[in-house]
Formats: sequence, structure tokens, C-alpha cells
Amino acid sequence: MKEERLPISIDPVRFSKAKRVCHGRVKLSELPRLLESLAPGAEEKIVEAEMGFSVDEESRVVIEIKVKTVLLLVCQRCLGHFELPVIIQHLLAPVQGFDEAEKLPTHLDPCWLKEGVVSPLELVEEELLLAIPLVPMHDEKECENAGILEHLAFETQRSFSAESAGKEPRNLANPFSVLSDLKHK
Ligand SMILES: [Zn+2]
Repeated sequence: MKEERLPISIDPVRFSKAKRVCHGRVKLSELPRLLESLAPGAEEKIVEAEMGFSVDEESRVVIEIKVKTVLLLVCQRCLGHFELPVIIQHLLAPVQGFDEAEKLPTHLDPCWLKEGVVSPLELVEEELLLAIPLVPMHDEKECENAGILEHLAFETQRSFSAESAGKEPRNLANPFSVLSDLKHK
């Protein structure tokens, strides 16, 4: 496959009139903000990106962005590393400010114009940042610590049912009476 580079910056108005499509392969090492959230070694992975420029029925500039890569993440349950394949496809509309962003129809996400241009690398990085789960974790089957969590959940459930077992109204002034109740059962 031919090695292609994304342009550094694009004038979306000009590109949309010409219905340009550009694609390129980006090394994750070129996306420093994203790398901060990834596991060591992630910088070697490649991102395949494509951007198609067009004008919609309401004469709005629209960018169809497609991003495909594998993110190397740190599992927050066992601190092991795991790979998350991502395929993103979004419709973006370049805007100048929040007023314009708010008026966009729901199928379009805003992307910010800086001095009339957009930066393809920044758009790709933004899409990938949004694709990272809030709390990255292995699948339960693959996680070394999944068993520990299940055990904790079981313990919590047990103490809950022990609490609700006593039908007598609880004497709130003396929490220890609950314990002695349990002991005498
Ligand atoms: Zn894990």
C-alpha cells in the first residue's frame, strides 16, 4: 500500500467544493496528547485515517472522518496491558464558535476552525481520545483480577442481606445493638 501523509492543515471550504478525499497513515507517536492515556509501546501502532469533504443540502461544509487503529491500554483492574481495536466513523462540521456548534443538527459533531483551517492530525487525535473508555478494563474472562472483584461483590451483597435480615426497627442511638442482635441469633 502506498505510504500517504495527511496534510498539515486543510481549508475545509476549498476542499468541500472540490469534494476532496484524503487519507493517510499516522504513527501514534505523532499524537502526544493521546499517548499520555495509552500504555507504553502504544506509540508503535499505526492509525489509518480518511477524511471526505462535501457540502450538505443546507450548504454546510461536512467532513466525514474515518479512523481505524488499535489502542494499547492499561487495565484499571489488574494494571495489565490490553489492545482495543477501534473503528470510528463520524460526520463533523467545522464551526467558529459555540453559537454555531449549538445550532448543528444532531448527526453532526462540531470541529473547531482555527484561522479558517482544520488540522487533520488534531481531528484524528480528538476522535481517538473520545474512543478511550472512561475506565479501561480487560474483558472479565481475560482479566487477572476479575475474580477478586466478584469476591468483593459477593461479600458486599452478604453484608447487605445480613443488615436487612433484622426485622425489628433498628435502635439508631446504639449501633452496637445491631451487632449483639446478630451474635445472639
Ligand atoms: Zn485486567
